[in-house]
Amino acid sequence: MKLALASLLASSASAFGPSTSPPSAHARKPLRGFWKLNPQTKEEALTFASGIASAITDSTPDVDVALFVPYVFIESTMSVVGGKLSVGAEGVVPHSSGAYTGGISTSMIKSVGVDWVLAGHSERREIFGETDYYINAQCLKILDEGMSVMLCIGESLAEFEADLAGSVCATQLKKGLKGVRKEDLDRVAIAYEPVWAIGTGEVATPEIAQSVHAKCRDILAGMYDQETANMIRILYGGSVTPDSIDDLMAMPDIDGALVGGASLDIKNFGMNWVKS
Ligand code: PEP
Repeated sequence: MKLALASLLASSASAFGPSTSPPSAHARKPLRGFWKLNPQTKEEALTFASGIASAITDSTPDVDVALFVPYVFIESTMSVVGGKLSVGAEGVVPHSSGAYTGGISTSMIKSVGVDWVLAGHSERREIFGETDYYINAQCLKILDEGMSVMLCIGESLAEFEADLAGSVCATQLKKGLKGVRKEDLDRVAIAYEPVWAIGTGEVATPEIAQSVHAKCRDILAGMYDQETANMIRILYGGSVTPDSIDDLMAMPDIDGALVGGASLDIKNFGMNWVKS
């Protein structure tokens, strides 16, 4: 299926509702891909990255695309995308230096030109035991370094079934952003990623996603203020594909998409999503 990205972008301005609507500055809904523990070689990484970049032409709508890639591929990926998309990192340790073997610091990735970093992905929370406290330290360090952070939040299936999505997201937002200053929020984006939707093919319905996004914006308004909350981009992630993205992006509080698996598919991510 060929997805008309133009309609994705056009929908952003017209669909905003009155109270929780993001401002018009968000007419460009960001499309973010990340590769997890993929691909397995530099050669493959460059093939994916250059394929996606080559789909972005002069006639492509003004779409804001970024890829978060494994550390070892960051610089080579940057070298083949020709500035057509941003290249970010999939994580950092919240420490500056010292006895943290295997860790990558914010200054290391900043020094190779990275602007955006992921934090709080459910796989980091579950598999690597990263707590809200640790994730908060990462967010503060990333912002302190002058970079931007995409904070991932979301409930498990059991929590969703117990109608706890809102309260789980509230906790993760409040703890994850503790101490983040209002003036730094233009360098913060939130990714609502219901864990039950990640990699399962069970994409949240636009209505479910919209309802949680609106709750998240309300929570942010309570933490800061409504005007600030309206400025913060809240992306949806979880089994997004070209088949589901249009309806999701038509929702007033969904400000973009964070895409895992499909961002490794040049045909889907590169051609269908980025080409007009
Ligand atoms: C994810 O891992 O956060 C994710 C959104 O992956 P996918 O798009 O494959 O569900």
